[in-house]
Amino acid sequence: MFDNLSEKLDKAFHVLKGHGKITEVNVADTLKEVRRALLDADVNFKIAKDFTTKVKEKAIGQNVLTTLQPGQLMVKLVKDELTELMGGDAAGINLSGNPTVILMSGLQGSGKTTFSGKLANYLKTKKNKKPLLVACDIYRPAAINQLHVVGGQIGVEVYSEEGNRNPVEIAQNAVKHAKANGYNVVIVDTAGRLAVDEEMMNEIANVHKALQPQETLFVVDSMTGQDAVNTAKAFNDRLNFDGVILTKLDGDTRGGAAISIKSVVNKPIKFIGTGEKMEAIDVFYPNRMADRILG
Ligand code: GDP
Repeated sequence: MFDNLSEKLDKAFHVLKGHGKITEVNVADTLKEVRRALLDADVNFKIAKDFTTKVKEKAIGQNVLTTLQPGQLMVKLVKDELTELMGGDAAGINLSGNPTVILMSGLQGSGKTTFSGKLANYLKTKKNKKPLLVACDIYRPAAINQLHVVGGQIGVEVYSEEGNRNPVEIAQNAVKHAKANGYNVVIVDTAGRLAVDEEMMNEIANVHKALQPQETLFVVDSMTGQDAVNTAKAFNDRLNFDGVILTKLDGDTRGGAAISIKSVVNKPIKFIGTGEKMEAIDVFYPNRMADRILG
């Protein structure tokens, strides 16, 4: 479906080598291909442009023009730089609280409830934790039911309070319940809206202030492209969140949102969602994402 950029770059340089000298102009041409690939992957225009400028400087600094395999060196440079741009190493999750409180934020439909379940399942099965899921969406009874269904699937208790219209109170009661019953991680699923609005932001900011979570995670649908960046910025401005969850990477997207979001809010992407099942969760590895973006 996508052309393989690594192969393309390598080939471009080989052809050029056969016909004589590789020049700075050729490097610039090849970097245009890189920029096109980034734009195809939905990376923001300015970020793509800055990126190729930086790679060009490095390429010239490293004498890419005179090496035996300039194509391969360029591919490596591009990949390393992309990996660095997305945070270098995989970022961990802070589980130091007693209990650890994890607050989920994001728009409706981003995959918050699904991811809350996946994270609970991951912490239970991979990290030997005893998680409690908390339903704080006071507007949509269906959302509370959905969390109960998810909890049932993975064998994790779900805390909810029927009739209580105060999400701060529900969340605080849930933490008390966790302390009293030996849960060491509390994952709070909050109400989302279809778009950023003041009321939603105030509500989640109040929950955030009251809980002082160890981790505030922002969940975003990787298919939403440039909008993902604006939403991330709006949530980060209010919550100063700790990490990003990129969902629906099993879909038809190159995942350029990973680069744009990291560049704009400068927060690590911690996990990715790769399907609707509870097991479809992965730690985010910047180098793997760079491979995916480059194709
Ligand atoms: P919320 O409104 O933010 O809580 O979003 P939901 O968790 O209800 O998810 C919205 C829809 O996206 C549901 O149909 C989920 O099954 C689906 N979904 C969530 N995460 C993923 C994912 O990683 N991949 C795919 N393909 N679908 C997902």
